Amino acid sequence: MKAQEHASLKSLNSFGVSATAGLLLTIETEEDVLSLPVFNPRKDLVLGGGSNILFVNDVPGTVYLNRITGRNIVKEHDGCAQIEVGAGENWHQLVCWTLDQGLHGLENLSLIPGLAGAAPIQNIGAYGVELSSVLETVTAWDWKNSVWVILNKGECRFGYRDSLFKSTKTHRYLITSIRLRLSRQFEPQLDYAALRDALSTTGVDQADAKQVSDTVIRIRQQKLPDPAINGNAGSFFKNPVISMDKAETLRMRFPNLPTWPAGTTQAKLPAAWMIEHCGWKGFQENGAAVSSQHALVLINQSQASGRHILDLSAKIAHSVEQEFGVILDIEPKIYRGSDLEIDSFD
Ligand code: FAD
Ligand code: NAP
Repeated sequence: MKAQEHASLKSLNSFGVSATAGLLLTIETEEDVLSLPVFNPRKDLVLGGGSNILFVNDVPGTVYLNRITGRNIVKEHDGCAQIEVGAGENWHQLVCWTLDQGLHGLENLSLIPGLAGAAPIQNIGAYGVELSSVLETVTAWDWKNSVWVILNKGECRFGYRDSLFKSTKTHRYLITSIRLRLSRQFEPQLDYAALRDALSTTGVDQADAKQVSDTVIRIRQQKLPDPAINGNAGSFFKNPVISMDKAETLRMRFPNLPTWPAGTTQAKLPAAWMIEHCGWKGFQENGAAVSSQHALVLINQSQASGRHILDLSAKIAHSVEQEFGVILDIEPKIYRGSDLEIDSFD
């Protein structure tokens, strides 16, 4: 296990904002986990690839970098295979590996940054597919009781960009591996018009899994700002889900506002549309900016601090609420420092 005192976190978060950790510990094996100091939820933090976090303050205690690797087919039956994946595996490389193995289910989730261990945290999703559609179990170290636990899908309480790990039990579990169930048979998920349209331009009639993955990669590369150039954490806000009635009322005022059903009684609204409507696209302040490529993505344009980015997000959320009466929830984890963090495991 590698240890570094007073470590910079700047290259370890995709926003590229400055922050430090009192101690940086790199976990490489499950044995390393057994020798870890007691996790202090007030001072410590677990970090994967840093692509869904905004540091507004330094981490006074220890940052645990989870780098446990390994990906194996552990079971195969009835045209399905179960794979066990170490939390430190790069997500996109995992997607490519599954395609090479002739396993299907992850193609719509191509090119999502970050590591496999963080995928359950917000139940990653893109183009109509969520991790929960393929996840079997999550193996984690329970910091509270100092035991290994295996949580099944139901216990993970997955929701829209949400899970047990993101809500009430934020600090309790160190995820060390995930088990996915993938199919030998390819069933394309082409509900999203952007994906269907892009596929149709390739001239292919019936795309295979690799073609779907390549198309997702192409759209994402065209549409999303590259964190290596302009630091960002992808979508800064979740798409709000509101009652169908409220959505209908909004549609009367804003006939061009797209909506999608979310279950039988609710509707999902595109946060990007509302932010753009309020005139924020391309806006810059104190080095923080709203991407001119995609209004849902806040970027570190030039040496912005986490606080500058968070302040800009508050102004955007306020104006959307004023205009639409809809509250935007922030998607990435905001690390505000020990004083404001939850101080127990529950
Ligand atoms: P980190 O940012 O390191 O951590 C995120 C949270 O998870 C933190 O609270 C951290 O404490 C916790 N955590 C991380 N690893 C563990 C672990 N092993 N055990 C316990 N807790 C842990 N997300 C989507 O859902 N869909 C997308 O399409 C998408 N597109 C993106 C595009 C871009 C350009 C970017 C920059 C981000 C995008 N994201 C997307 C967000 C992000 O990539 C995902 O949420 C990803 O799963 C985060 O992984 P990470 O390893 O970087 O997590
Ligand atoms: P898009 O295709 O321009 O669509 C805009 C929004 O409309 C999306 O956010 C999507 O919601 C919603 N949408 C479109 N078609 C839909 C359908 N048939 N049913 C339900 N909802 C629909 O989106 P985009 O911004 O380019 O992103 C493409 C996909 O990648 C989306 O799924 C998005 O979530 C994902 N993505 C996520 C992040 C992140 O950081 N979380 C970053 C980039 C891209 P959903 O977002 O709910 O899917």
